[in-house]
Amino acid sequence: MTKKTDNKHAVKHHLHPFSDNAQLKKHGVRMMVKAKGIYVYDSEGNEIIDGMAGLWCVNIGYGQKKLAKIAEKQMEVLPFYNTFFKTTHPAVIRLSEKLVEITPRNFNHVFYTNSGSESVDTMIRMVRHYWSSVGHPNKKIIIGRWNGYHGSTLGGASLGGMKSMHEQGDLPIANIVHIDQPWYYGLADDNESEEEFGIRAANWLEEKILALGADKIAAFVGEPIQGAGGVIIPPTTYWPRIEEICKKYNILLVADEVICGYGRTGNWFGFETLGFTPDIFTTAKGLSSGYLPIGAVLVNDKVTEGLLAGGEFNHGFTYSGHPVAAAVAYENLNILDKKNIIEKVRTKTGPYLRKRWQETFSKFKYVADIRSEGLMCGFTLVKNRETRELFDDFGSTGLICRDIFFKNNLIFRACGDHMVAAPPLIISKKEIDNMLAIASA
Ligand code: PLP
Repeated sequence: MTKKTDNKHAVKHHLHPFSDNAQLKKHGVRMMVKAKGIYVYDSEGNEIIDGMAGLWCVNIGYGQKKLAKIAEKQMEVLPFYNTFFKTTHPAVIRLSEKLVEITPRNFNHVFYTNSGSESVDTMIRMVRHYWSSVGHPNKKIIIGRWNGYHGSTLGGASLGGMKSMHEQGDLPIANIVHIDQPWYYGLADDNESEEEFGIRAANWLEEKILALGADKIAAFVGEPIQGAGGVIIPPTTYWPRIEEICKKYNILLVADEVICGYGRTGNWFGFETLGFTPDIFTTAKGLSSGYLPIGAVLVNDKVTEGLLAGGEFNHGFTYSGHPVAAAVAYENLNILDKKNIIEKVRTKTGPYLRKRWQETFSKFKYVADIRSEGLMCGFTLVKNRETRELFDDFGSTGLICRDIFFKNNLIFRACGDHMVAAPPLIISKKEIDNMLAIASA
């Protein structure tokens, strides 16, 4: 158990993201001071299992000294130069080559950003610019999903399907629409199989396209597995059918790989695990394992060709392809690659977590829909397992549960009443056991 922790002084001047700052001022926060492997340590010396890899990002775990050394060296040699206006630098070239090497099929081009939200906004602008460049300027509408998450910028928050975010700031922006999520447990009809539901949920896309007109639709965007929505794993029939629909109506298919990318599901990218091929995919987080902010949008040859035909793309960030972040990301990918970390997720720790996650939580009366893929997993707190009835105030039970874990030095996350975990990819079987022992104590 932790000792009393308030640190009220720590929130005197800082407005925290996704927080009720008035509450933080009253009750204080927990101060994290160091980290190693899968553990973070607070200012009172508690060792905490980070079952969320920070914010789903510290894929190679904390304390990888090699990354610190690479950052130091790059800072000394070339701390900054931009990639605008006919310039580049070796760090960003190396990273681009590495990304193309690990990316299957015909992805040969990368656009750099500093975060997942910037990757998503970049993708939105890119998709619309692509369609105008190839002579379809009316193809502007982008379809996302309710309970999807695509970041906090105006574009990302609009495309995401979090109604609480839309309510703040007059969102969504124009030409963004949503269809429902492929959540079998919550949305399937009685007696409908997972496979049947997967097709029906994908067909909601076709219905939306027909309602709005394919000549107006630019792209469909989805996370291969919804992360912040509560680790919603679609049935195996879902993504192949989505891909078929996008092809049929000449609509770009975009995977938001900000969480699923770089090994989380047991392959480099989530679309490989879920069995589809996008035209564009957005990434961030695991690209540098969170050691520095960097994101990347990967673009296939067809879209690249259209973009090149459109002349200058008036878009970019001062820090697009930042040399220090690029050097660190390159080394991070090398570590993931050379140490076979992703293969271990696919063949060893992923299957082990799935088994242990099931065993651990199936004995609890209020737990249902126990699910996992690679090293991301979830379950839903429900009022009644048999009738699938949710608690009335969706989310409040989840927060209670999350806070109990946190008190017991375990970080899991509550996404409404979905409890989720996504530990660093270097977690061992023994550490999985320890994590679950705390969770079920
Ligand atoms: N897209 C997805 C799928 C995400 O999960 C997130 C963040 O969790 C984002 C985009 C936004 O990323 P960032 O917080 O780095 O802006």
